[in-house]
Amino acid sequence: MAEIRKPNAGAMRWLWKERCCSNVEVDQSGVWRFRELLHILRDEANIVSLREGNTPLYHLKKISQSTGIEQLFAKHQGMNPTGSFKDAGMTTALSVARELGFEWVACASTGNTSAAMAAYAARAGMRSLVLIPEGKIAWGKLSQAMDYGAVTLQLRTDFDGCVRILSDVVKCAPVYLLNSVNPYRLEGQKTPALEIAEAFDWEVPDHLIVPGGNLANSSALGKAFLEMQHLGLTTKTPKISVIQAEGASPLYRSLQDNAGETLHPVEAQTRATAIRIGNPASWKKAVRVIQQTGGWCEQVGEAEIALAKAELGAEGIGCEPASAVTLAGLKKLVKHERVLPHERVVLLLTGHTLKDSDYTIAYHRGELLRPDEMQGLAPEIEATRKNAAELDASADLVLRELERATIR
Ligand SMILES: *Cc1c(COP(=O)(O)O)cnc(C)c1O
Repeated sequence: MAEIRKPNAGAMRWLWKERCCSNVEVDQSGVWRFRELLHILRDEANIVSLREGNTPLYHLKKISQSTGIEQLFAKHQGMNPTGSFKDAGMTTALSVARELGFEWVACASTGNTSAAMAAYAARAGMRSLVLIPEGKIAWGKLSQAMDYGAVTLQLRTDFDGCVRILSDVVKCAPVYLLNSVNPYRLEGQKTPALEIAEAFDWEVPDHLIVPGGNLANSSALGKAFLEMQHLGLTTKTPKISVIQAEGASPLYRSLQDNAGETLHPVEAQTRATAIRIGNPASWKKAVRVIQQTGGWCEQVGEAEIALAKAELGAEGIGCEPASAVTLAGLKKLVKHERVLPHERVVLLLTGHTLKDSDYTIAYHRGELLRPDEMQGLAPEIEATRKNAAELDASADLVLRELERATIR
């Protein structure tokens, strides 16, 4: 970065905004409209886009009241073409694969990467190979990989096992690897940070809260904010905090035990399948981002995640379980006075609520959590799930439910 001549920040901001109303396909992408900061292709004709990015930034009205954080926003990356933030990195990395002349791309995935890769590969007329841990992913995601025509193989192992197998496969076959350490994916995943800064007229928020799985996303967003500041587009960097599920929190443990010097892989367990990763590839980068920006790492339990997801749903927003860790984590950070009431906070929602509807239905039927997982949250959880019932077909019964719901 030190070598790059600093651009005219005002001109860049104007150009990026102006492209939003262009009729040119690459301008309409919320990733490629920032292409001056994505030095990855020799020929723009190789771009494979599904009009990703340009996702909404919502003010969280109810939750800002309950948390006391008035300036609380959600950047909803689940509103991407395949329903997760993975699209922002897939459009860039798959375009590189096409430029390099590959016919096949491959990834190991907890689900969303495979959905994104399969869609972009199909779009480019390429073939894709997906390795998925058996049983432990959300069906919505698996169905996407199949729908987009990927060769979809469920292996009898976990995510970390799939990664190991794939690294052997790519040594023996001409396949372009699209795992989350792929540097071009990280470049594309910088762009939500640019969108966030742009949405606040280039005054960055005080905090950005991100779920942590393989830890590529937090790393990419951190890189983006540091680059923006270096280029004079912004004057500061938000504190970037990473939230993990308690059953899959090797980064949290590493920061607690030895200040992020070493990381001990764990056997990951959580219903938030997108972050069910015990040996995160990009943990060193994430440590650096947290330390450089002054952010925090927290872990949250299964009941906290489920409750946070229901609260986001009740705002009309909705997200998948892995995204809801951001709100659960925010509550902890507020409690420990690491986030203060006057500060502006953005939660990064990574996936769409329809990705894992089984989870949502089980929650509202009271079948998701075991009593021993409730963490004293049973009353709050109960209050969020009083609106579903099965009845005989009778207007009287429906009217009675309506009355009961009105009184509540
Ligand atoms: C991939 C994914 C994550 C985790 O992102 P990492 O970059 O692996 O830390 C979180 N939420 C959702 C919905 C995802 O698809």
